[in-house]
Amino acid sequence: MASSRQTTQPITPLDSVDPHLPNFLWSSDRATELGSPEVLDSRQQVLDSLRRSLLDWYGDCGRDLPWRRLRDPYAIWISEIMLQQTQVKTVIPYFQRWLDRFPTVEGLAAADQQDVLKAWEGLGYYARARNLHKAAKVIVEQYQGQFPETLEATLALPGIGRTTAGGILSAAFNLPLPILDGNVKRVLARLIALEVPPAKALDRLWSWSEALVPPDRGRDFNQALMDLGATLCTPHNPGCLLCPWNAHCKAYNLGVQTKIL
Ligand code: SF4
Repeated sequence: MASSRQTTQPITPLDSVDPHLPNFLWSSDRATELGSPEVLDSRQQVLDSLRRSLLDWYGDCGRDLPWRRLRDPYAIWISEIMLQQTQVKTVIPYFQRWLDRFPTVEGLAAADQQDVLKAWEGLGYYARARNLHKAAKVIVEQYQGQFPETLEATLALPGIGRTTAGGILSAAFNLPLPILDGNVKRVLARLIALEVPPAKALDRLWSWSEALVPPDRGRDFNQALMDLGATLCTPHNPGCLLCPWNAHCKAYNLGVQTKIL
């Protein structure tokens, strides 16, 4: 579920924060590489504004998805793996049937692999199901059935890369970990009007995702970022007029948003 709406404050246009802001907000520099205290302070204002406006929008417009009503790391993990290569509307019935069939990680670990693959039938990319089964055994054997709460341990599980780990750990434990799926790459690339294809600037996009996620709102912020990419900042005809980031978005302000996919 989306969080309750925070106090709304007007978005500060970038140019009124600091006329030189694009020099660093939209540069490849990381926060730790920035210069004067004044510049750092202005940058923080913009980051705060981006966070606040996106979270406010999410409070009003966030999608109500079945896994968002849960805090069970097992269920959230299943949803994240199903969503890796499959659309939300397809995943929803599979997710619900999966939890009926394998309600716990112990149940999944103990299941016959043919039953696991049968429950996955129709979703495709069966390596995902095989890895879920293998990882469930690891969680039961090494973590007494508790999903690990650290990035390092989560990344060591079969079938979990950095963005899936960030998605699971932020949703389950509210950790401020970045994500960078296809939608998020496009949103961030447009925010900074990235001049190269996103696939050629992954370090820079990870840095942005990491800088933006608030220390205390990892869960809601990452869900909001995914929703922005799925519902407004779409590849074609993005809904920029309704977007909470339109005051800050460099691609929109330059009119080049549809050139960045
Ligand atoms: S203003 Fe448009 S291009 Fe920029 S983030 Fe929002 S929807 Fe995407």
